[in-house]
Amino acid sequence: MNRIGWTFLGIFALVGGLVALLVDFGGTSAPPIRAFADAPIGLAAPPPSGQLVLPVRGVGWPGIRDSFGEARAGGERHHTGVDIMAPAGAPVVAAASGTVEKLYYSNGGGGVTAYVRSPDRRLSYYYAHLAAYAPTLHEGGVVRAGDPIGAVGDSGNAGAGNFHLHFGIERVEPGEPWYRGRAINPYPLLARGRAER
Ligand SMILES: [Zn+2]
Repeated sequence: MNRIGWTFLGIFALVGGLVALLVDFGGTSAPPIRAFADAPIGLAAPPPSGQLVLPVRGVGWPGIRDSFGEARAGGERHHTGVDIMAPAGAPVVAAASGTVEKLYYSNGGGGVTAYVRSPDRRLSYYYAHLAAYAPTLHEGGVVRAGDPIGAVGDSGNAGAGNFHLHFGIERVEPGEPWYRGRAINPYPLLARGRAER
């Protein structure tokens, strides 16, 4: 084949690859909504308004799957969020705006965690297994979507070296404290942002 022939072959391969990519992407319909068995309030309730930001910078969708509700600790409990695998120290940012309600350390649980309450006080965004908080983060402070929360770590029960962000969304009544939330599946809400981006 001559040079022009090769060029055309190259272009064909490129276009074919792009088409395959688009078809594959287009074929990925919205993930199934799976309610957390123990949560009385599921996704039947109205979802948070606005768009969620992917709470780890530099991470793409291929690394994120819906693990909400999966059995953990040999079935003793169920997974109440989505794990976003990321390199140690990757920037964790606020998925949505709110007020930093609690910075909490739980050795056997989420490790270094942050709870951010939505402006209407009906949702709590939960960031766990952090290595550290962002210097700007403090209880009572306001964060906007995309603002720094901290850095990806393996604190708490993540398992040494299993660096990821555990991101959760919990429903709370406006008068309830930060530790009384009922988990809902963040995955479809994150994925909604993906579809519209
Ligand atoms: Zn998790």
